[in-house]
Amino acid sequence: MNAPITRRDFLGSTLLASGAILLRSTTPADILGAKDEFTGYGGIGEYSTSNGNTLDILRAGHSIRDGTYDPLPKNVIDTGETYDCVIVGGGISGLAAALFFRRQGGPSAKCLVLENHPIFGGEAKQNEFLVDGKHLIAHQGSAIYQLQYPNSFLARFYDSIGLKTPKLTYQKWAGPQPEMPLSRTPYEAAGLEHGQYGFWFGARFDQRPGLWLIDPLGKNLRGAPISEKTRAEWLRYLKGETLLRSKFEHPKVEGDASSRYLDSITLEQHYMDRFGLSRDTVRTFLSPIEGGGSGLGPDALSAYSDYAYEMLHPLADEKDGTDQMFPGGNTTIARLMVKSLIPAAMPGPDSVEGVTGNNVDISMLDVSGAPARIRLSSTVLSVEHDGEPTRANSLAIAYLKEGKVYRVKARSAVMAGGSWTTKHIVKGLPETHRKAYAQFHRSPCMMANVAVRNWRFLYKMGITGCRWFEGTGNYMDVRKLALTSIEDPGIGPDSPIVLTLKVLYSYPGYSTEEQGHRGRAEMLGTSFAEYERRIREQFTAMFAHAGFDAQRDISGIILNRWGHAYLNPQPGFFFGNNGRPAPREILRNAPFGRIAFANTDLAGAMDHRYSILEAQRAVGQLLDQVLEA
Ligand SMILES: Cc1cc2nc3c(=O)[nH]c(=O)nc-3n(C[C@H](O)[C@H](O)[C@H](O)COP(=O)(O)OP(=O)(O)OC[C@H]3O[C@@H](n4cnc5c(N)ncnc54)[C@H](O)[C@@H]3O)c2cc1C
Repeated sequence: MNAPITRRDFLGSTLLASGAILLRSTTPADILGAKDEFTGYGGIGEYSTSNGNTLDILRAGHSIRDGTYDPLPKNVIDTGETYDCVIVGGGISGLAAALFFRRQGGPSAKCLVLENHPIFGGEAKQNEFLVDGKHLIAHQGSAIYQLQYPNSFLARFYDSIGLKTPKLTYQKWAGPQPEMPLSRTPYEAAGLEHGQYGFWFGARFDQRPGLWLIDPLGKNLRGAPISEKTRAEWLRYLKGETLLRSKFEHPKVEGDASSRYLDSITLEQHYMDRFGLSRDTVRTFLSPIEGGGSGLGPDALSAYSDYAYEMLHPLADEKDGTDQMFPGGNTTIARLMVKSLIPAAMPGPDSVEGVTGNNVDISMLDVSGAPARIRLSSTVLSVEHDGEPTRANSLAIAYLKEGKVYRVKARSAVMAGGSWTTKHIVKGLPETHRKAYAQFHRSPCMMANVAVRNWRFLYKMGITGCRWFEGTGNYMDVRKLALTSIEDPGIGPDSPIVLTLKVLYSYPGYSTEEQGHRGRAEMLGTSFAEYERRIREQFTAMFAHAGFDAQRDISGIILNRWGHAYLNPQPGFFFGNNGRPAPREILRNAPFGRIAFANTDLAGAMDHRYSILEAQRAVGQLLDQVLEA
């Protein structure tokens, strides 16, 4: 932890190496070529070789898509192992499936989790930096969780894995400067209501250099370089003032008339109807920010996607909100699950402090004879019944590890890896299921974590967060961190922090599926060095006037690229079209022989709570197969 930060050396070498690539236009094939121009600096600590989907992960994943191992080669190595359940994917859903299986499958039930990354967690992983001797942590993807009603299923689940005090305590203001309100999560924008937030307008609005509007709400957007009509529309939206003529009934229960109506239109149409926005206003100022929880802009999404999360009914709003966040986001929840599943793999007490303060003992994750095992860096290539699916007693599961293909046997399997690989690797998938999965579209996201030595430049501008509408990313916020394994209980403008840019790829006007393809081509076709350059330039354009110097102030940048980050529910995804069942219901309600389906994408809402609930359902569907045999 005290090793000097290596990123400057890295930066020097990647910039040199990338010179050639910047001189010509790049394609994904160039970037994915022999030399790794893609992955970039991974930070320090346990997650340093697992920043999003690295080049190795991509290559293995694309070998599934391209059918490289279909049919399987003749030299598959049979491990001779048989498990009661094999779980594909070691994200929150896969880990939850393993836990439910161990708890419900009887004392002798054995399960194996196969996960393609070098560490478990899926989208719930973290980055770590060492900045001027301070250890900083930030999330790679999955960030927040909500307080639940204390006797709800989810609250009891949290409790069972050692999350005994879900309401966290956060850093307090420190230092001589007058205090500013800070957010606890990347999505809170605490400064907006307090006049300590900024909107930045650049070349897209003919502003060279860019123009800042500080306190956009307090100023009613006056001074923004936009027409009076746009100003009135956007302000109505920002202030939540709906049109009087707009009749709207908030969905109360999933599947009620209001939710079904919302699922028949786009989110864009919904905003236009409710707030009187023009399509152009939605696409310029709300896209992709307001569809961000579903990965694309409102034009590509079912209007119900905005409400699907609420149907989990967290604890009714407390004064200071129900959203909570560990410094590394839901990484801590994944670690708590592993601690419950394989206690020896996570030394120390069975608590948040235990799992955040100690390293994983990787050697204990996959121990011969153990009732639960997690095998990392293992990409599952195929899951196939041994014989006719309705009568087969077992499955053959092949996976790729360090260039070799292995096979294990299982009496059941939970597919928790997500739609984009499941549809390829389950062999003989019935047409109903194939057609259902064909309606699952996922789009990419890049989470750029930018470690800065201090945030005096923001403080000087009188802001703690901001939004912009062109270039890389759309918003960022200074966060006060939960006091779990955090060295510094105080935060002020002199503190080193990590600013997180969530980069989404929306192409308004194209179909939901096409936007995903285009986004992936863009994200995969851009080298680490090029993104680093763009981020430094973006920060310079926005903050140099306030004393920001990219060379001096940025200590490190980690890119976490998720090729299939978000499920993007198009209209009809949730409740079906023209009397046909919704695709998610087919997969939820009908296991295929000994194979059941999990992952948060089956809910149509990307949320770790759904990852857990889908896992619980999937395991329940398989128990009879395993217990009676
Ligand atoms: C940028 C971003 C921000 C988010 N923020 C939040 C948030 O704040 N709060 C929240 O609750 N949710 C958030 N989410 C949603 C997130 O999806 C869930 O919280 C949760 O982490 C998903 O867990 P999962 O297990 O369902 O899927 P994943 O995390 O995707 O896990 C699936 C795992 O299976 C692996 N896998 C896939 N195919 C194979 C294969 N063939 N072989 C082996 N392994 C395979 C994948 O690589 C992955 O590691 C966010 C998502 C993203 C992308």
